[in-house]
Amino acid sequence: MERRYPFSWELLGGLNEGRPTLGRYARLEAYRLMQYTMRDVLEERLGTQQTEGLFYQAGQLAGKEFYQHMIGETHEGQWLLRRLQQVLREMGLGLLRLEEAAPDNSRFVFVLKEDLDCSGGPTKGYSSCYFDAGVFSGVLEAFFQQPYDVVETECWSLGDERCRFEAKVGQGLGQAFCDSSLVHG
Ligand SMILES: [Zn+2]
Repeated sequence: MERRYPFSWELLGGLNEGRPTLGRYARLEAYRLMQYTMRDVLEERLGTQQTEGLFYQAGQLAGKEFYQHMIGETHEGQWLLRRLQQVLREMGLGLLRLEEAAPDNSRFVFVLKEDLDCSGGPTKGYSSCYFDAGVFSGVLEAFFQQPYDVVETECWSLGDERCRFEAKVGQGLGQAFCDSSLVHG
């Protein structure tokens, strides 16, 4: 299949050149408007589970690209965490804290406050940050060179005032689609 949309970082564009007046910032509502309308039409066409799996998969791709272009090569875990916290804050994406880390790096628990996707949104009784879960999976895989399964266990959509993600060494993407318990907690 000839593809139109393989991702490359260049697609994000030269913003200084392209937006000399408006610059690199836009209102968060515009991002959420796009994401939640996209979810609506994808769910209608593909179903809930597929849609959530696709957001997770896109998040993994984003996480790997984000690691490569925004975090940079590093071989030291503490540095990765500090850099991730710094970039997420600078870009206005969220306030990150590491809650737990297994000594063998097989399990991590991250807490994200003021999350880009769901903070301030309605309580719906289910978690909604599948893209973010995929991003954590992608970043961890890029750094540790092994796949991680990530499940969101607290979310503004669940009535919490933060998002909480549990990451475990796992089977990566295939598992996200084969095992609905992964993307549905
Ligand atoms: Zn959330």
